[in-house]
Amino acid sequence: MTQTRFSIVIVGGGTAGWMSAAALARFAPPGYAVTLVESEAIGTVGVGEATIPAIRLFNKALGIDEAQFLRETSASYKLGIAFDGWLGEGHSYMHAFGTVGRPLGLLPFRHYWARAKAAGNAKPLAHYAANELAARTGRMATGVSGPGIPELPWAYHFDAGLYATFLRRLAQSMGVTRHEGRIARVIRKDEGDIAAVQTEGGQTLAADFFIDCSGFKGLLIEEELQTGYEDWRHWLPCDRAVAAPCEAAGPFTPYTRSIARSAGWQWRIPLQHRIGNGLVYCSEYLSDEAATESLLASLEAPAQADPRLLRFTTGRRRKAWNRNVLAVGLASGFMEPLESTSIHLIQSTIMRFLTVLPCGPASPAIVSAFNRRTAEEFECIRDFLILHYKANARAGEPFWDRCRDMAVPDSLAARIAEFEEACQIQPAGDELFQEAAWLQVMAGQGIEPKGWNPIADALSEEDLAGFLGAVEQACLQTVGPMPRHMDFLAATCASA
Ligand code: FAD
Repeated sequence: MTQTRFSIVIVGGGTAGWMSAAALARFAPPGYAVTLVESEAIGTVGVGEATIPAIRLFNKALGIDEAQFLRETSASYKLGIAFDGWLGEGHSYMHAFGTVGRPLGLLPFRHYWARAKAAGNAKPLAHYAANELAARTGRMATGVSGPGIPELPWAYHFDAGLYATFLRRLAQSMGVTRHEGRIARVIRKDEGDIAAVQTEGGQTLAADFFIDCSGFKGLLIEEELQTGYEDWRHWLPCDRAVAAPCEAAGPFTPYTRSIARSAGWQWRIPLQHRIGNGLVYCSEYLSDEAATESLLASLEAPAQADPRLLRFTTGRRRKAWNRNVLAVGLASGFMEPLESTSIHLIQSTIMRFLTVLPCGPASPAIVSAFNRRTAEEFECIRDFLILHYKANARAGEPFWDRCRDMAVPDSLAARIAEFEEACQIQPAGDELFQEAAWLQVMAGQGIEPKGWNPIADALSEEDLAGFLGAVEQACLQTVGPMPRHMDFLAATCASA
């Protein structure tokens, strides 16, 4: 039997807890003992059903078979998010995963598109994005590419509870020990680190390191270590959500819908066994009763469960890693489910932790670099989310008027200016949202590029029209033969 060199206790068994447990069990070398403690009585937040393509890397790293995962989590495929009504009723655009158009010579597609658009000769971006075309026409297949179009990426919608159960089984099969019980006491060492947690039943779990996955309250990182929280409600003002699943009556879309409402927005997430719905709103503009009524009235079929109310404060923990505690998941902060980034942040935080996995007290330099990178990751996502609110066109609704009038972070203001002036988008290579994402959301939210790279002017009018036409044709050709989402999913689930 391997002797324990380093022990880790994970507090909490929601998506964050079990993703962390599974990743540690898979990658930590022999000698690392991983224990998870959770309380069924407290339960989990229970929402969090939409993901982005990076989740596939996580599943793959854990050796998860896609067909089994789709079956056991009642998942569907996701090719993007449709934003309905953000520029007013009847308007819709999509942030689809993958590329938009293709570069010509040196230049990204967007410069040619901006030039043609200014002359009234370009179609909306949707015509040049294969994944949007696939999503809008309800098609789905994996491993698809086309002329000048790299493989189309995909993500999933899944039942968060079933995913946690799936990962729990996996983690336990790889040696993670689970304890049931509510933590009632936290024991500190003399110098301030956490020594152990103690359950109501009197069980003491000591460890060298703790991962706080206890949800919004941050049992160790905040309630015990008082790390502090950076509040971003002035930029991301929604602070409540009410969620209620219902039976499927509408289309089985391979995309999430984000529908703007009077004081927030509503999600629609199709799963195999139900539709996930929720209204995210700002409590200054909408009461909980009115939000619940509005959600229930808009469902395509009767709710399958009582509406669940959730309260949150958008922002991030000042340090993700403090002393011998790493906060992961909601304990580390929460932005908006608008671009399905929370589960991704769990994944990236735990993977980053594995790259600096301690085997004793961690060096302050490592911890501070880790915290800096985590903060930067949060801030890049934050800016992307604020963009949706800032560039709305729902004039006359107090919540939306306030969002349009708000001052945004300088980093975002600079990005908007770059795009407006010269159709420039320059994310750093390691940012989560890359060029195509910013392009679709900026253009989709009505920000018009007034200029473009002059190299695009070298093309004749005729050649420009020919280029755009060829890109559009390539998208049609790529998507045309793809099967229907439902058929492809059924076939994948039925495969061994
Ligand atoms: P929780 O699920 O709250 O789990 C906390 C765990 O800690 C539980 O097991 C609990 O029992 C345990 N615990 C707490 N206190 C104690 C104690 N004293 N003793 C023992 N155990 C304890 N993310 C996405 O990526 N996509 C989405 O579409 C999405 N939608 C969302 C919509 C809303 C409205 C909200 C609020 C969040 C959404 N998220 C989404 C975020 C996502 O739900 C979370 O990131 C994810 O579920 C992780 O939660 P968690 O594990 O950190 O916390």
